[in-house]
Amino acid sequence: MPVEQCRAFIGGRWVDAPRAERLPIVSPMDESVIAELQEADADMVGRAVEAARRAFEAGVWRSMAVKDRQAVLYRIRDLILQHADRIADLECANTGIPLRQIRDRHVPRAAANFAFFAEAIGQQSGQVYEQQAPYLTIVRHEPVGVAALIAPWNAPIALATMELAAALAYGNSCVLKPSELTPLEFAPLIEICCEAGVPDGVVNLVNGRGPVTGAALVGHPEVNVVAFIGGTETGREIGAAAGRGLKNYLAELGGKSANIITASANFERALDASLVGIFSNNGQQCLAGSRILVERSISDEFIGRFVERTRRLRVGDPRDPATEIGPVINRIQYDRVIRFAAEAELLQGGGRAAGFDKGFYLEPTVALAASNAAAICQEEIFGPFATFLIFEDLGEAIGLANDSRYGLVGYLWCEHWPSIARVMDEFRTGTIWVNTPVARDLRAPFGGFKQSGLGRTGGEASRRHFTEEKVVTLAMGDFAIQKLGAG
Ligand code: NAD
Repeated sequence: MPVEQCRAFIGGRWVDAPRAERLPIVSPMDESVIAELQEADADMVGRAVEAARRAFEAGVWRSMAVKDRQAVLYRIRDLILQHADRIADLECANTGIPLRQIRDRHVPRAAANFAFFAEAIGQQSGQVYEQQAPYLTIVRHEPVGVAALIAPWNAPIALATMELAAALAYGNSCVLKPSELTPLEFAPLIEICCEAGVPDGVVNLVNGRGPVTGAALVGHPEVNVVAFIGGTETGREIGAAAGRGLKNYLAELGGKSANIITASANFERALDASLVGIFSNNGQQCLAGSRILVERSISDEFIGRFVERTRRLRVGDPRDPATEIGPVINRIQYDRVIRFAAEAELLQGGGRAAGFDKGFYLEPTVALAASNAAAICQEEIFGPFATFLIFEDLGEAIGLANDSRYGLVGYLWCEHWPSIARVMDEFRTGTIWVNTPVARDLRAPFGGFKQSGLGRTGGEASRRHFTEEKVVTLAMGDFAIQKLGAG
């Protein structure tokens, strides 16, 4: 049987590259080859960028009436929901994330991204300044041009569409590069964009590894703006390349987020949410609550109950609706988790999940750290691996939480208002969730402090990134102009 090919999509059509490097796409479930990726080299990337540039200059998309552009974005939303099962099946096969989580959360989120930005462009406006009479000063927001969008593998469709929906809504042309590990679900997404009425050349897709395809894309002189979601080290490299080209750069990077459980917390809710916080998405989440800090007076009971629930997590085939944890993405991530486990004081897990001799199935793992300096407290493990630390008082907890090079999000479980207020002031993270697991409001800016990112996404923040501000000053009446050379 011919192996499915993951190709580039340029200027409105799929492009075969007979001489391209071929990369196998491996199933995390059984390690079989399920597709083959044709890697886009610098030439192919150049063709994609030029197609995007031509479409931008032609102006059909960027000059389209807002209500018509909104209609296209809403159609993309509708078509994603219509094809949700197919997209979810592909993403599940490609990532090993439980199908139910993809079907219930990731695909609806992808659809919601397009609806959100469709609504946003119907509401947002520029500014007008009238204070300096006789002038009327208008600030307009115009599309930047060609956007390079680079996405990770851990929630491919939900995250890539946050970049894509924003870039498109504000009138840009795009070249999207998904992770080379997870290209499968992007074929239907591209077909959907076309069917919904995105003009040819406005959305292009290139597949391939970061240093080959990604680097050629970011470095292309005709790319005007770069949006990246991925690891911190990669973010640094891409930022350097974007900086050399003076391209506006947005980076959503890694995290090692603290989840503080105080003695006043609603114990059962904090327990449920802490398990969700680290084990959903197979533990592969930038915003995982991977460092769980528990107040000493409740630590024995909390950690004991957490370990007991972890033992009962259902690890299995991600297509099975009963599965709570599937395999991690690949051998590299699998070995990484095992390596961290080998160095840690384990309370649970740390090895291959029983019953699987193939695939990247891991036991959900819980460790207790002696100090926050331990590697399991400082490094983003990015797998089903929870690390506990015990604290004596809130001041110590805040100090531990902030003692990290990351600052993406923080969680607090607490019923004591002055403590909540203190954490709101002192946590050094882009987002703080109090008494709730992840709850993203797309209107609000999302991004990281410190090494967790640069810039923000969300309503206003994404507009700032994907538009250029242009100021037009109009004289609303006559006034004296200096008469040079008039004697
Ligand atoms: P990664 O950094 O390895 O790769 C991300 C993307 O960048 C891929 O498409 C890759 O091919 C590309 N890339 C790599 N090197 C490149 C280069 N030199 N030039 C251009 N492109 C390049 O990340 P990953 O392993 O795919 O994803 C996991 C990481 O992403 C974790 O660190 C996670 O925390 C982070 N992440 C952050 C957020 C957020 O919103 N802050 C969301 C999801 C994931």
